Amino acid sequence: MNKPKISMEELVSYCKRRGFVFQASEIYGGVAGMYDFGPYGVELKNNLKRLWWKEVVYKNTNVVGLDSAIIQNPKVWQASGHVERFNDPMVDCKACKKRFRADKLADVDSTDVKELTDIIAKLDCPNCGKHDWTDIRQFNLLMKTFLGPVEDDSAVAYLRGETCQGIYTNYDNVRETTRAKLPFGVAQIGKAFRNEITPGDFLFRQREFEQAEMQMFVHPDEASKVFAEWKQARMEWHQSFLTKENLRFREHGENERAHYAKDAWDIEYNFPFGFKEMEGIHNRGDWDLSRHSKYSSKELDYFDEASGKKYIPWVVETSVGMDRLFLATILDAYHEEKVGDETRVVLKLKPELAPVKVAILPLSKKPELSKVAQEVFASVAGEYNVEYDETQSIGKRYRRQDEIGTPLCVTVDFESLDDKAVTVRDRDSMEQERVKMSELKEYLDSKLS
Ligand code: ATP
Repeated sequence: MNKPKISMEELVSYCKRRGFVFQASEIYGGVAGMYDFGPYGVELKNNLKRLWWKEVVYKNTNVVGLDSAIIQNPKVWQASGHVERFNDPMVDCKACKKRFRADKLADVDSTDVKELTDIIAKLDCPNCGKHDWTDIRQFNLLMKTFLGPVEDDSAVAYLRGETCQGIYTNYDNVRETTRAKLPFGVAQIGKAFRNEITPGDFLFRQREFEQAEMQMFVHPDEASKVFAEWKQARMEWHQSFLTKENLRFREHGENERAHYAKDAWDIEYNFPFGFKEMEGIHNRGDWDLSRHSKYSSKELDYFDEASGKKYIPWVVETSVGMDRLFLATILDAYHEEKVGDETRVVLKLKPELAPVKVAILPLSKKPELSKVAQEVFASVAGEYNVEYDETQSIGKRYRRQDEIGTPLCVTVDFESLDDKAVTVRDRDSMEQERVKMSELKEYLDSKLS
């Protein structure tokens, strides 16, 4: 494994210091597995979501979007198999009471309880060193709530454990309203909830997180081909802004595949704690639509006009965790560079992803400079995130913008009052160029595009 550029501890503190990510409910001591995205975090995440949406929805003639409810009829989760089988194996150390996810403790990608029990039987507790394990038990990850005022079994509902179920339940609505012919896809970005046994590794394993999923409905005979195409396309997309060497495919083993999966591959990223799943690409067969058809008693067959035949479409799914992608994007963009005797931290994000595109920095707080600088701000703000900052020395303000990845800084100095021009500094080269105020917006747009 390459030596990470930054440790997880450093990354967590950098993300907090620079306003990317805060611990949720921090003033109350936090809450396990939950994070809040700060002023720059929300920008970066929105930019990543927009990039994904453009790639998956706008670039394909046969993919459309959807935004379904987080809470659905509980029957959805019975049909999907989640109520019965969305489990993680759990084991406790009887000596120190520490709880582990059994497959993570055993360090195998398997859900087979016998296999996990055999491996764990040979291990001591990594926390206390003793050897006194409970049996492995299955723990259901769905988060429960109640609808309405009475908290009894008939009011139980679930926060969605994955976004795709809302796509399956709307398959027929989308097909009918868009007049789509197979193969067609439906994409959605949204929150998902899992009561993870051991949340950890910062944003990597949370209890509330965000998924970007695309479900392609296909003829069964076409599923393998469509699967191969999307698998390749998804990897190329990640490679378009993340370092190639930090990305790899991994095929799921027999004991690891979800109950519905005919074929399953992960795209893994090289996190500081090793190569781990960032996106899953699955051939789900006809599991989803046939189960929902059975449980709802609604026919979800597709009628193929050309052949005059009916069949249940198969589903090819791509599912990326936006928070894991967010983590990978920061890790990948993070650089420390020597400048003279100093080290500068610079986030080399492509402009499209940068939380702030342009910073307007008057050289000092003098009112006559502020006035002009505010006018410059107004002339370029509106279409993308522009920041105005007049506190601290100009050097410190440059460093601060470098650290959050701002591609361009615009300095308004005393000369600007006479020559009606400003200095534009490039984040990566640190080169500066004098640009007329009247041409500034056009100049910035062309640099950012
Ligand atoms: P893992 O094996 O790491 O638990 P998974 O195989 O259960 O993940 P999927 O059900 O395939 O994950 O979900 C699709 C994507 O959602 C994952 O590739 C990941 O990026 C993201 N994801 C899943 N669980 C979490 C989580 N607890 N926190 C953050 N992201 C997650």
